[in-house]
Amino acid sequence: MNCPVCDNEMKTVSIKNIEIDYCDTCQGLWCDKDELERLAMLGRASLESSPIAKSLIKDMQDIRTQKKSVLLCPSCEAGLEKLNYSYESDIILETCKICNGIWVDDGELSEIIDYMYSSK
Ligand SMILES: [Zn+2]
Ligand SMILES: [Zn+2]
Repeated sequence: MNCPVCDNEMKTVSIKNIEIDYCDTCQGLWCDKDELERLAMLGRASLESSPIAKSLIKDMQDIRTQKKSVLLCPSCEAGLEKLNYSYESDIILETCKICNGIWVDDGELSEIIDYMYSSK
């Protein structure tokens, strides 16, 4: 699958049996809702020593803002729609209504971890 932001081939990474697609260039992630929650529950420390550690640090916004605001699903090419994570977190992700995949921009995983741990 190609990255919806920069069109580069994403690589599949497996972190404690959670399989996601990761773009090395813009450091975004493609996964489903269930995988995203399991990933965030691993906690910051385990993710910092994983292949997607760089996705925790928000330093690639430039790549994202240079691209068009509407992304297409890397799997079925439908337009992605904005999704407020957990309906009230104000972390805005993008989702495909057809295959239920979720696009997580660089740094957003970190915000989700903070949100999860602060709401418990
Ligand atoms: Zn990318
Ligand atoms: Zn799709």
